[in-house]
Parts: sequence; structure tokens; C-alpha cells
Amino acid sequence: MELLGMDIGGTKTAFRLVSSGGVVRESAVRWKSGGETGADLESLAKAVRELVGFRKVGRVGVAVPATLDARGRVLVWPNRPAWQGVDLRAHLSGVLRGAEVRFGDDGDLATLAEADQAGGRDLLYVGVGTGVGGGLYLGGRLLRSDNGPVAELGHVVVAPDGPRCGCGRQGCLQALASGPAVLGRAAQFEATDGTTLRSALSAGATWARQLLQEAAQALATAIVAVTELVRPQLVRLGGGFMAALPELAAATAAAVHALNRPGLPAPAVEPAAHGAMSSLAGAVLLAQHRELAAA
Ligand SMILES: [Zn+2]
Repeated sequence: MELLGMDIGGTKTAFRLVSSGGVVRESAVRWKSGGETGADLESLAKAVRELVGFRKVGRVGVAVPATLDARGRVLVWPNRPAWQGVDLRAHLSGVLRGAEVRFGDDGDLATLAEADQAGGRDLLYVGVGTGVGGGLYLGGRLLRSDNGPVAELGHVVVAPDGPRCGCGRQGCLQALASGPAVLGRAAQFEATDGTTLRSALSAGATWARQLLQEAAQALATAIVAVTELVRPQLVRLGGGFMAALPELAAATAAAVHALNRPGLPAPAVEPAAHGAMSSLAGAVLLAQHRELAAA
């Protein structure tokens, strides 16, 4: 039986098809920003059909940034408000001719994939992309709460006088260290994407080094706060922006190390083993293991 993993993100959706023989096929589709729901769903359906062809998919694991109800309908997705009320389970099950569809939070699934790869060690996952997300894996299980989402690292306040976050508060980590936040500041210096920012870094531009340092410091501040609370052995840095700018992982590791208190073990801080694909790897795990499903 074939299994499908899907990572529905803010700017693109990635797919990984795994056959019983272990053969893996992958694809991805980019979203139009501000696209209409019908067009979004059709582009998903088309990408799934192209990847799957005539194969019979038994189960689908879907990583989503949105909040879904138990039936698989979208309750809230701040980046795509038009999706509210979409019956994503019915849509995907229809496209995949009756496959079982399981949903999980993208940060949770990325954390599970990294913890799986790390042999189940206590771990903090930090995903830096369009936003900043995270997850905590402690004592052999993902940290969850009945009272709401946990490890919302992007909304940990790291600079009370910092820039305004999309949530309305000032100085959230996400307002300082997400891809759009860093590139927004880089645009003042004519770097508009990760590639031009990397070129400026390797050319030794002072402004580029300063920007990188600011983002790394903000990430390290949040990571050290978590470390003081739960002492993970390992911190894995993933997400699309982090993967596109490896210098940020190195600078963040150095900043965490510099903040370490004498006499206490510092967590190992390293790039995510799955690079930008941790959520997708977690989505495949979700297709394999029912107990990981949130909906
Ligand atoms: Zn916030």
C-alpha cells in the first residue's frame, strides 16, 4: 500500500509518496498569495493526481498550519482566512479515492520527525520560515496541552520594545526572526531574498552580519528561556528560511552557547536533520502511525 505525506505551508505545499517497497517520489506546488479557495484546492488536487497517478494510496498524513476540527474542517488559518469552513478531509479523500486522511500540526509533526531521527532524545524543534514555530519532545512524547497549542515559540516575547507582531503584541520572536521579518529589514540594504543576503554575508557586509546577529540573538533568547524551563538535550533548527540561510543556524548556536550559565549543560544546537522537510517527514510518520493524529 502507498502512503502519502503532505505539508501544507504558507507559501507552498510539499508531497512525498512512499510505496511499500520503499520507493519515494516527491513534488511541490507553490501557492499564489491571496489566492481564491477554489483555485487553491484545485492546484492541490492537480499536484496530488500528477504525483500519485494510478497508484492506490491507503493513508495520507497532512501537516497543516491551520486549526481543524475533529472532522477535518478548517476552523482558523490566519494566513488564508478564506479557507475557514473548508472540509479538507472530504476534499483530499475525494481526490485520493477514499484514502484515510489524518491531520497534525506542522510544528508537532516536524518535532516528531526530528525526535525520531535523534533516537527519542529530549528535543526542542524550532522552525523558521514564513513564521516561527516549534515543538517540544520530552520523556518520549510530544508535549501537548488540553488548554491550547504549546511551544508557540514564535510568540514568545524576546524584545518588549521590538517590532509589532501580527498577533498585535510587540517584540514576539516571529516579528524579529521569521523569513519575512529578516528580509524586510534586509530590503533597506537592497537584499530582497535569502540568496542576495547570503552573498552580502560572504562578501563581509557589516549590515548583513548585523542583521544575522540580531535574528540569531532573538532566536537564542527564546531557546535559552525554554532551556531554563525544561532542559532539552538537543535543539534542532529547521524550516525553509533556516535551511536557505545556514549561517543563521551557526550564529544561533553560537549565541545560545554564549548565553549558557556556567556549570549547567548547554543543549547541542544543530540544523534540523530533515532540513526544510521536517514537517513533511512527520506527515509520512503520521500516515504510518495513527496515534500521532490530532484530527
Ligand atoms: Zn506574536
